[in-house]
Amino acid sequence: MSQQVNETKQIAAFLLKEIDRLIDRPVRIMEVCGTHTVSIFRAGIRQLLPEKVELVSGPGCPVCVTPNDYLDTAIAYARQEDVIITTFGDMLKVPGTSSSLNQVKAEGRDIRIIYSPMDSLQIAKDNPDKKVIFLAVGFETTSPTAAATILAAKQQNIKNFFVLTAHKLTSPAIEALLCDEKIKIDGFLLPGHVCVITGEEPFTFIAEKYHLPAVVAGFEPLDILQAIYMIAKQIHAKDFKIENQYKRVVKTLGNMQAQKIMDLVYKKAPANWRGLGVIENSGLDLTDAFSEFDALKMIPVNKEISKEPAGCRCGEVLRGLVKPTDCPLFGKVCTPNHAVGSCMVSVEGTCAAWYKYGSRV
Ligand code: SF4
Repeated sequence: MSQQVNETKQIAAFLLKEIDRLIDRPVRIMEVCGTHTVSIFRAGIRQLLPEKVELVSGPGCPVCVTPNDYLDTAIAYARQEDVIITTFGDMLKVPGTSSSLNQVKAEGRDIRIIYSPMDSLQIAKDNPDKKVIFLAVGFETTSPTAAATILAAKQQNIKNFFVLTAHKLTSPAIEALLCDEKIKIDGFLLPGHVCVITGEEPFTFIAEKYHLPAVVAGFEPLDILQAIYMIAKQIHAKDFKIENQYKRVVKTLGNMQAQKIMDLVYKKAPANWRGLGVIENSGLDLTDAFSEFDALKMIPVNKEISKEPAGCRCGEVLRGLVKPTDCPLFGKVCTPNHAVGSCMVSVEGTCAAWYKYGSRV
């Protein structure tokens, strides 16, 4: 065991030395995956890197990028007498404009935490007199299982199952950041879990159009350090491409079967991102063949006018424009136990990670 630890330390020391040698100017490298954000903080990678290499968290946490407009709609549905809401746990704690799903649950509404979208189908079968609405939030990592669930609902002719979709695609958000002159990024750590599904192709524009390096990265500390080293090599050589550090899991073309199911069930649509606004072709709506499962089309709802929380700087945090500690509410009014904004709620949120692990500022 100690030999393994020694080897890991030696490899890490080598990679850090090489990163320092290869990079001769300040650079900002963005990760666009909440799991990367947490791994980076947990392993103390920001503190290990040379000062000239800054890691910046981007819009990689699906709960964080989901705007209040969506939450308020979910809350309005939850307040309907004949509705059961099914959701992953993190969504319960996110504050909407004037309430949260947690508060509505405390009022006695039927909101159930599930571990797989398929659980929603069973709940629908068990409650034929109710409308079961699944809160379909997430990136390419979760949208295939939601698509498979919708397909199963169709095959099983389940009429009381619906989805409120807020599925999002990662690459259009990266392009939106690159089009924003205020945001300076010198390279990207690409999300390994997303790329398992998508493969490398959706991200090739980063090198081809914007002449920046991007590396698909795994989640162990050495994976991340190696991916940063690969980015450093590209910056040094001024030779930009998409590389894959996570070859043991991510195939060049991704998971074709998952892509096929997604193409059957979803079509690209504009989507509203917290902090980034509406981005064309960054969301997934149901195709006409599956529109009978679209909650917004099938179940009327009256929601309040949505507002983002006063003073919260999540939008700028998600674009890498400010650090969580630049927000005057951080750690004072806004803590994981009393979150003002979504970035403090999810365990993958940047503000929550800064609060839990701290960082060099
Ligand atoms: Fe929003 Fe809280 Fe983060 Fe400030 S610390 S940006 S209020 S989530």
